[in-house]
Amino acid sequence: MTKRSVMVLCAHPDDEVIGVGGTIAAYAKKKIPVITIVFSYGEASHPWQKRKATIEMRVKESKMASKLVGSKKTIFLGLTDTKIKQQLKSRRIQKRIEELIQKYKPVKIFTHAQDDPHPDHKAIANMVDKITDKIKYKGPVYAFEIWNPVNIMKREMPRLYVDITKTFSIKLKAVKLFRSQYYNAVIPMLPFIIAKAISAGMVSGHKFAEVFYKVK
Ligand SMILES: [Zn+2]
Repeated sequence: MTKRSVMVLCAHPDDEVIGVGGTIAAYAKKKIPVITIVFSYGEASHPWQKRKATIEMRVKESKMASKLVGSKKTIFLGLTDTKIKQQLKSRRIQKRIEELIQKYKPVKIFTHAQDDPHPDHKAIANMVDKITDKIKYKGPVYAFEIWNPVNIMKREMPRLYVDITKTFSIKLKAVKLFRSQYYNAVIPMLPFIIAKAISAGMVSGHKFAEVFYKVK
């Protein structure tokens, strides 16, 4: 595997596109491979439907979206949606994450913010922090937010702005591929996704940008 890969670790299929989609597409255009680790299948989104059917649907959507933004590889860990915090206590799962980081040797890691209000997101942010300490990971770890579009601008942490002017339309198309999330996530979040890209763009001098803050 090339030394220049970038890794995204997120809880649910669609977090990677909402949080980092324009950046993944920008890296893909530069031929930088992006490895995405999705911890759960997001199967809690459709509790009335059989688990297997929901998983198949969400994996299919996620693969289509990953392909569109240009992720090199998407790995599903298969943890149970909404129970990620408990399951991350498993030494076997922690080991798997360590091994994936050591295998792909990303130069940058993107993951959830430690103060994200979603318990699954927060649990992953804390775990990535713990594991990168343990394995003495040298690269920067950046956080993205899903539901708090304004909060990030208040933080006193170094920020990374990525110009997504050329890839923002790909991001929007990828977000819309999550048909199963249309009413509970896509429709309510689209205005935030657009507003956030414009405001991050204004601060960084681009038409559209994604903003991340450096955890370490
Ligand atoms: Zn999520």
